[in-house]
Amino acid sequence: MNEEFIKNETSTSNTDNNKFARDVVVIGAGITGLTTAFNLLKGDKTVLVLEKDSRVGGQIKTYNDKGFIYESGPNTGVISNPEVAELFEALAPECKIQTGNKKAKKRLIWKGANFKPLPSGIISGLTTPLFSFSDKMRILGEPFRKKGINPNESIADMVRRRMGESYLDYACDPFLSGVYAGNPETLVTKYALPKLYNLEQNYGSFIKGSFALSGKHKTERDKKATKDIFSAEGGLETLPKAIASAVGKDNISLNVKDINIEPYNGGWRIRYNTPEEVVEITAANIVTTVGAYELKNLLPFVENEQMKYISSLEYAPVLQAAVGLSFIDQNDYMAFGGLVPSIEKRNVLGILYPSACFDGRAPEDCVLFSFFLGGKKNHTLLEMSDENIRALIEKNLDTMLYIPDTASVKFIKLFRHKYAIPQYEASTKERLEAIESIQKNFNGLFLAGNIRDGIGMADRIKQATNIAKEIISRS
Ligand SMILES: Cc1cc2nc3c(=O)[nH]c(=O)nc-3n(C[C@H](O)[C@H](O)[C@H](O)COP(=O)(O)OP(=O)(O)OC[C@H]3O[C@@H](n4cnc5c(N)ncnc54)[C@H](O)[C@@H]3O)c2cc1C
Repeated sequence: MNEEFIKNETSTSNTDNNKFARDVVVIGAGITGLTTAFNLLKGDKTVLVLEKDSRVGGQIKTYNDKGFIYESGPNTGVISNPEVAELFEALAPECKIQTGNKKAKKRLIWKGANFKPLPSGIISGLTTPLFSFSDKMRILGEPFRKKGINPNESIADMVRRRMGESYLDYACDPFLSGVYAGNPETLVTKYALPKLYNLEQNYGSFIKGSFALSGKHKTERDKKATKDIFSAEGGLETLPKAIASAVGKDNISLNVKDINIEPYNGGWRIRYNTPEEVVEITAANIVTTVGAYELKNLLPFVENEQMKYISSLEYAPVLQAAVGLSFIDQNDYMAFGGLVPSIEKRNVLGILYPSACFDGRAPEDCVLFSFFLGGKKNHTLLEMSDENIRALIEKNLDTMLYIPDTASVKFIKLFRHKYAIPQYEASTKERLEAIESIQKNFNGLFLAGNIRDGIGMADRIKQATNIAKEIISRS
C-alpha cells in the first residue's frame, strides 16, 4: 500500500497525553455500537464508529411503505432495565418511545386447531387447555422441589424437572422459539435465561423467587424497568438513527471495508478503506460489536486456541415476513401475537400482530402481521424459494389466522437472516472465559455485542452503557 495515500487522523484524544487520535474506536453501528459511542461522548471521550454498511442500525431496520410501517428485524423490545428508559429520555424529543397498546397484551399459544390465550393468573392457569391436569397439580409442588446442581443444565431438563412435560411443550418451547428461535434441549438456562436460573439458585423455586422479588423494595431508578414492550414512534429504526444523529456525522464512518486492527504503542492502530481513501487512525481502546463469525478476521492477533471458543458460537437463522392485509378488522386480531410449539409441527415459529400493539403501523381497515419462520430446529426452511414461502404464509393466513374471505393480501415481504440469534448453549462457559482472557491479554480491547450478556435490544443497551462507563472510569 502506498503510504502517501493513507490519511492519518491527527491526535485529538483527551487521554494518554494526546498519544492517540481517539479515545475509542467502536466497530459496528448497530444499537450496541451506537449506544456505546453515545455514552462515551457524554463522558467526554473522543469516539469514532466504523460501520461496513451504508446505514446505521444493524439488525434494526424499518420500512415505510404504502401507509404500513414494518420491521425486517426486531419488532419490539422489553423495557427490562432502566438503561432502556434512560436512553429514550436522553434522546427525546427526536426519538419518542412507543409502548404497546394495553388492549393488545394477550399472548397466544397454538394448540390443535387454533390459538389459545397463555394463562395470566391462577384461575386461567388451572382452566387452560394448554397444560395437562397432572402437570397443573404438579406445579403446586414446585416450591418444594430440590434445586438443580448442574450449571450446564438445558432449559428443557430444568422445566421437565420442576414443572412437567406439558409446560415444556406449550409454554417453554414456544417462548424460546419467540426469543431465541432456539431449541430448549440445547439452550442452557444459566446463560440463556439467567433470571430464571437465579430464581431457582437464590430462592429454591421459581414461584418462591417470584413472590420474594415482587415484595422487594425498588428504587425510583429500578422502577423504570417494567414488563412493557417498546418500539419507537415511526418504527424501531428511529432509535439508532436518533442515537447516530446525537453521536454526530464526524464520529461515524459508513461504508468502511477491510478493517485492520493491531496493537500499537499501548493502544491500537486501525487501518481501513472508505470508498474515497485509505485511513489510518490510532485509539486507546477498541470496542467490537460484530458477530462471533466476524471476529477472527477482525482480530487476527488473537490466538486461534482462544478464538475458537468464540467462532464456534452457533446462530439460529430466521426468516421474517411482513404481511399487510386490507379489508380486515384489527379488533378481530387484538393481541401481542401467537407462538407455535414445535410439537404442533406448523412450520411457523410465531406470528406477531404489530398493528395491534402499536398505533400507526397500518392504514385504516388494514392489519399488519409479522411471521417468523425457521429457527434452530427448522433451519432448512430458509432455503425454500420465495414463491414457496409465500404460498406457505398464504396457507397459514387461512388455516391459522382464519382471515375472512373479504380480506385481501396487499404484500408479503420476506427478510432472511442467516445469523439472526446467537444460541447460548453448552459452549457458553468456555466462550465467556475466552472473552475475559482475551480482554485481559489485550488492554483496551472490549468484545461486546450479543456474543455475551443477552440477545435482546434491552440487553444490548445495558451492555453498551456499562462498557462506556467502564472505559470512562478507567481514565
Ligand atoms: C429477525 C430478528 C428478530 C429479532 N427480534 C428481537 C425482538 O423481538 N426483541 C429484541 O429485543 N431483539 C430482537 N432481535 C435481536 C436484536 O435485533 C439484536 O440483539 C440487536 O439489534 C443487535 O444489535 P448489535 O448492535 O449488537 O448488533 P448488530 O445490529 O448486528 O450490529 C452490528 C453492526 O456491525 C456491523 N459490522 C459487522 N461486521 C463489521 C466489520 N467487519 N466492520 C465494520 N462493521 C461491521 C454490521 O453491519 C452491523 O451494523 C432480533 C433479531 C433478529 C435478526
